[in-house]
Amino acid sequence: MSAIETGLHSPRYAALPPIFYRVVAPQALNEPHWAAISPDCARLLGLDPAHDFDDDTLAVLAGSRPPARLPPLATAYSGHQFGVWAGQLGDGRALLLGERDGQDGQRHEIQLKGAGSTPFSRMGDGRAVLRSSIREFLCSEAMAGLGIPTSRALTLVASSTLVRRESLETAAVVCRVAPSFVRFGMFEHFCHGNRPDALRQLADHVIAAHFPECQQAEQPYAAWFEQVIAASARLVADWQAVGFCHGVLNTDNMSILGLTLDYGPFGFLDGFDPEHICNHSDHQGRYAFRRQPHIVYWNLQRLAAALWPLIREERLLQALETFQPTLEAALASRMQAKLGLQHWQDDDWTLLTDLLDLMAAQGADHTLTWRRLCAVTAHGDDPEHCRDLFLDRASFDTWRQRYAVRLQQDGQPDAQRSAAMRQINPCYVLRNHLAELAIQAAQAGNYQEINRLRACLSDPFTERPEYADYAGLPPDWAHTLSVSCSS
Ligand code: AMP
Ligand code: MG
Repeated sequence: MSAIETGLHSPRYAALPPIFYRVVAPQALNEPHWAAISPDCARLLGLDPAHDFDDDTLAVLAGSRPPARLPPLATAYSGHQFGVWAGQLGDGRALLLGERDGQDGQRHEIQLKGAGSTPFSRMGDGRAVLRSSIREFLCSEAMAGLGIPTSRALTLVASSTLVRRESLETAAVVCRVAPSFVRFGMFEHFCHGNRPDALRQLADHVIAAHFPECQQAEQPYAAWFEQVIAASARLVADWQAVGFCHGVLNTDNMSILGLTLDYGPFGFLDGFDPEHICNHSDHQGRYAFRRQPHIVYWNLQRLAAALWPLIREERLLQALETFQPTLEAALASRMQAKLGLQHWQDDDWTLLTDLLDLMAAQGADHTLTWRRLCAVTAHGDDPEHCRDLFLDRASFDTWRQRYAVRLQQDGQPDAQRSAAMRQINPCYVLRNHLAELAIQAAQAGNYQEINRLRACLSDPFTERPEYADYAGLPPDWAHTLSVSCSS
């Protein structure tokens, strides 16, 4: 038996009744081979990155054969896509293989994405192209490096199987890992399908497996829904702080655990632009960067609407009211840390928004501005030339003097503050053009760039000279890149 199968349990989800999923055999790819392995994710699962990824494990993680004794499952769900009820969706190209005990004390579901069609594939071919699989693999591990809740990626298997998108491309399989892949859309599925019994079973499963403390509450379902709201609010605060734009925040892509899930046409901001739309297919800008908190709230409202058979309406509405204060508190704590302040005062919102307005007006690079700000001193010195990122340097200088006054008042020694800020403001993020360079190399048969980028992004806060090419401003051609839902 392969290393991945040893210690693989039947997923807890499989104990739910058959309407929750379909049993589906994976479909083999032609000439499957390793394109990348995440050693961090391997270790999380108690696997040895150097020895456990042999041909037997490849066969399972490529979808060439199912794990011994465990029939893979495609789960059923529905959802709202771009604000419109889309009806039944379901895992059209994902298969749940099983669960493993992680070194973190949690049980993790092991899922293949792109291992062939399922009864939920609708018009799709059940495949994922190498291009989008590289992006998902890299961003999953980059988010984990940033400390932002996310599904993980264990492996990326490439192949010679051709699939048609705008052009012919090769297919790949990513092995995704998360304590649960349950989505808001699963609850919507059973509510709209008029199956309150299944809705209750799903809620009971999620609470027992992931929110056991809620079982003691006087109203367990309400207590659990409040936890989902809090986790979602904290997640979107993390995205706003780091400049991450998800791109397709449909309810079927919203994790019940508050994880970043379903990486498609996502993007990290280069120049700070609150109106940025990373998904080329999002013509209305529904999922623009600045709208993400509102959209997450809208999605929580859809979840609330699906939970009415379980939770009284007043209690659902009360719970939804906790979103805004939780979001604001989470944003304040992240922005406080980004600014290197020990204490947060109400006028700090003005200091912050003035900086953000300036960055937006001047096209200042999001990641680099925050990173170089780490070096600004309480005397107003700017040794890393943060000002050079602004078209009108004088406007930044004026803001910097106000910031320096605030730093003096806050009273933390420069060196201590800088070190703390460098643990919050990353030096490296997965910019589109960096992913694109790794994709182009991989499409030409060279997978080393994926691995080098992954290794760098696994520790995005420590500046290392060997990764200088990842730390600079994006090249001009980066502005012409576009990513869409085609994946
Ligand atoms: P996504 O936009 O990737 O979150 O997918 C939305 C829905 O479309 C989900 O139900 C997916 O399983 C399904 N889907 C996307 N691409 C494919 C594909 N190539 N084959 C089958 N189903 C797909
Ligand atoms: Mg999805």
